Amino acid sequence: MPSSELHKFYKKGLGERLQIVKEFAGLGEEEIGKLKKYGAMDFETADRMSENVIGTQQLPLGIATNFLINGKDCLIPMAVEEPSIIAAASKIAGLVRKTGGFKAEADNPVMIGQIQLLKVKSFEKAKKAILGKKKQLLEKANAFDPVLVKFGGGAKDIQVREVKSKRGKMLVAHLLVDARDAMGANAVNGMVEAIAQDMAKIASGEQRVFIISNLAIHRKARARLVLKAEDIEGSFHGTCNFVKGNEMVERILDVYALAEADQFRATTHNKGIMNAIDAVAVATGQDWRALESGAHSFAAFKKGYGPLTKYSKDKQGNLVGEIEIPLAVGLVGGAVKTSPVAQAAIKILGVKSAQELAMAMACAGLAENLGSLREIAIRGIRHGHMELHAKNIAIAAGAQGKDIDKVAERIIREGKITVDGAKETLERMHK
Ligand code: NAD
Repeated sequence: MPSSELHKFYKKGLGERLQIVKEFAGLGEEEIGKLKKYGAMDFETADRMSENVIGTQQLPLGIATNFLINGKDCLIPMAVEEPSIIAAASKIAGLVRKTGGFKAEADNPVMIGQIQLLKVKSFEKAKKAILGKKKQLLEKANAFDPVLVKFGGGAKDIQVREVKSKRGKMLVAHLLVDARDAMGANAVNGMVEAIAQDMAKIASGEQRVFIISNLAIHRKARARLVLKAEDIEGSFHGTCNFVKGNEMVERILDVYALAEADQFRATTHNKGIMNAIDAVAVATGQDWRALESGAHSFAAFKKGYGPLTKYSKDKQGNLVGEIEIPLAVGLVGGAVKTSPVAQAAIKILGVKSAQELAMAMACAGLAENLGSLREIAIRGIRHGHMELHAKNIAIAAGAQGKDIDKVAERIIREGKITVDGAKETLERMHK
């Protein structure tokens, strides 16, 4: 297995980058062809995927390097327009390799389908009646999706809750469905629809809502990293001092403490995590809205809204980072098979199950988050971000062709990363 540790990948040309990825992932000519066409989707495919289609909107597809996950080298494709996400994740992944890489795990891919029953006279009696007929209800739900059952998935259990609302008490049943390698929304929605009426009869109530819940608490992925303090020390442009490892760990813990204590900071902290997770989701054809709603809801589940990662210092003074996040992702269904690039992205990632995909996403989210915390702890996020953004600024100022890199380099060196600064630099260069 080739290593994902790729030095100065960003300095290589497109042809060389593609060749490296092709060899790493064993991509065929067809996949390379699709990547070379920049993922261009034909109108017919786009029109089948969505509605009232008049074109397609594209995003750059990049590769986060250096990831070692459970001992396996991984290149992680990310489709995202914001600079510095791929660089930050790759940088941290490179450091984590030194201490053995990320350790990750994922729960079974169990989703929740909700059935709301109204006008139930006795909650306890209704609950008993539903659970008494569990076997028949599960059989009927599974009859909706024999393919899923064939792959070892399907409806596995029913739980019953009482929910107090403004319109009175209601019974809510949760159908637990193992979605295997699918995200599962269509399967779950079909199953709850198939049994909602029967359940209402059994409980002597009236069914209303029957739909999947995007709060996928049974389908979480976890990842962990350990970094030696000396591996994260360094000097940063925009600051005068070299920051020693122990000092860096303390600073990162200070930044993290605010996210734990304050929702305003926690929201932005989690946005950083989702920067990477959404980027992998888009690259691999996932429903990123489902991931977003699930992640933020989980961040507030049972307690106030808080960070999705945790940081601490172990007895040796190492920095320990952990993430736990629900990730309802799939390798079949949705846009996974229809998006021209998603299949190639999944092949590059080398994952063979939805659980492996979830683990890779959790690692990417944790790496990106720590990359941001390290920047924030020293000089604020703007420097690294703007340095990578300098090329966009140069283009906005009117630079073309080779001038783009030259202007970007100069405005970074002179610390004038603004459109005005780039215009002025461009004028000076042309004089
Ligand atoms: P799907 O129905 O397109 O495909 C899943 C089906 O593929 C399974 O039900 C099964 O029959 C079959 N299958 C074949 N091989 C399988 C395997 N190895 N493992 C599991 N299933 C296998 O997709 P889906 O995952 O049920 O639904 C995802 C789509 O639903 C996404 O496009 C999403 O945007 C959309 N959606 C989401 C929501 C929501 O999140 N609230 C609501 C409605 C629709």
